[in-house]
Amino acid sequence: MSRELTELLDNNRRWADAMRQREPGFFTRLAQQQSPRYMWIGCADSRVPANEITGLDPGEVFVHRNVANVVVHSDLNALSTIQFAVEHLKVKHIVVVGHYGCAGVRAAMRGIRVGLADNWLRHVQDVRLRHRKRLDHLPPEEQEDILCEMNVIEQVGNVALSTVLQDAWSRGQEVAVHGWVYGLKDGLLKDLEVTMDRPENVVPVFAAAFKRYPRVAGGDSDFGAPLDDEEAD
Ligand SMILES: [Zn+2]
Repeated sequence: MSRELTELLDNNRRWADAMRQREPGFFTRLAQQQSPRYMWIGCADSRVPANEITGLDPGEVFVHRNVANVVVHSDLNALSTIQFAVEHLKVKHIVVVGHYGCAGVRAAMRGIRVGLADNWLRHVQDVRLRHRKRLDHLPPEEQEDILCEMNVIEQVGNVALSTVLQDAWSRGQEVAVHGWVYGLKDGLLKDLEVTMDRPENVVPVFAAAFKRYPRVAGGDSDFGAPLDDEEAD
């Protein structure tokens, strides 16, 4: 085996020893059951690891990651993971976490072709297109950062509108969806304040979130169709 991999296995043994010393029975307890309170939906980017950033141990956060933290209603992988988290693990919080400097968002913003992922990033391009009047007047650097935030807000809406969350709320289950964005430059998470915790507040929270990004020449106007920003123009 290459030295690069041997190093990982050595690290792993040291880590497992340290965990056992810190909390005897840690692995025995986890082997029997996981009961995380949080679900993390984040980007696959290696610089944004859920547990390390939030100081959580194994067993404390249920994680789904993909390129550009996208939740699509036809993605059985994401939906199955969310369903398991909500219906079986009964997580209390689902957090969609984007990050500034996301290569997927940048490619979508600039129309860069990256291969097969173009089709996946089409969803982020759709976000850009839908909110272009709030984006196009900004300097390019800022456009990327804002699109990272807008993408999170859209995905929070997608999670909240999924059958899994709608069913959970109709059963009276307490589970909230949140949106955060992570800064690669400072290691800090920012709350985008788009928490959706019941069906009635999905549209108002979504609309209020996008109103924070003014259109050119102060041309901010009220929303038309729910979850459809540009329809209002
Ligand atoms: Zn990313």
